[in-house]
Amino acid sequence: MKINTRNILTYIYANFLMMRGDVKKAIARLKNGQFILSIYFHDPSRPLFSKCMKWLNQQGIVFLDIDTVHEIALGNVPFPKGAVLLTVDDGWKSNKSNIVDVAYAHNIPVAIFITTEPVFAGNGYWWSYVKLANKSGYLSITAEDVKHMDNKSRLDLLSKLKDKFCVGREAMTVDEIQEADDTGLVQIGSHTLSHPILSKCTDEEVHSEIYHSKKKLEEMLDHSIHSFAYPNGDHSEREVAMVEDAGYRLAFTTKPYYMTADNIQQKYRLPRFEVLNDVSFAENICRMSGVWFKNKAN
Ligand SMILES: [Zn+2]
Repeated sequence: MKINTRNILTYIYANFLMMRGDVKKAIARLKNGQFILSIYFHDPSRPLFSKCMKWLNQQGIVFLDIDTVHEIALGNVPFPKGAVLLTVDDGWKSNKSNIVDVAYAHNIPVAIFITTEPVFAGNGYWWSYVKLANKSGYLSITAEDVKHMDNKSRLDLLSKLKDKFCVGREAMTVDEIQEADDTGLVQIGSHTLSHPILSKCTDEEVHSEIYHSKKKLEEMLDHSIHSFAYPNGDHSEREVAMVEDAGYRLAFTTKPYYMTADNIQQKYRLPRFEVLNDVSFAENICRMSGVWFKNKAN
């Protein structure tokens, strides 16, 4: 955990929630079949991912693969008791050793949603250029500010930053993605071509990001790609319609709700709880069990 005021306060709050029995109660409800835990990561360290797997295992949880979640959504498989779905966004290079290898060693299914452009270009995700430019004093705005720009302005800015700054490979290579896919435990999904904020894109841009990323991954892996995660969680009716039309079976948002027998039927708006890298493990326990988001999740 990074020591700062935010993390100290949230550590205290997380411990209060655990002592009050909130996590215990949530796990009991999970085992009663009231919901599935849908948890997602970005680029956790190996100790953090391993610790999360260990904690989930200690709760006696069953790990679902994404195809089973689809079958549950369709009503072909009964809604499970004590089940969790793990997903990972972006396709970070570190995922290879920190997630894929750990999942393989422990026989745990995990879905990874890949942003394809940095895989093929061998460079960084767009926000890394913005962060570097901001840190060096070249740019006064932050990556968060850039998310609010229309996509054309974001791309114009990015093109200038790419001329001036160099960010090395941040994504897995094609070989690493193929190897992960070959394990049979890692299911690859799409997270667009370039990770734009889809709500800031034109219809043509959204179409290209959703369709072409699927096609590129299908060419890379020689099989169909069925799942999608909205970058930054942003989506509207337009994106949902295009994702469905492109032939995806499931799509994930970042809405922090429990996955219930009810909302799982909204196959293109599935919820997820985020695990963070630099916070206390107590906070991440509260996040994984959903009690961190209690006000919104119930
Ligand atoms: Zn992402």
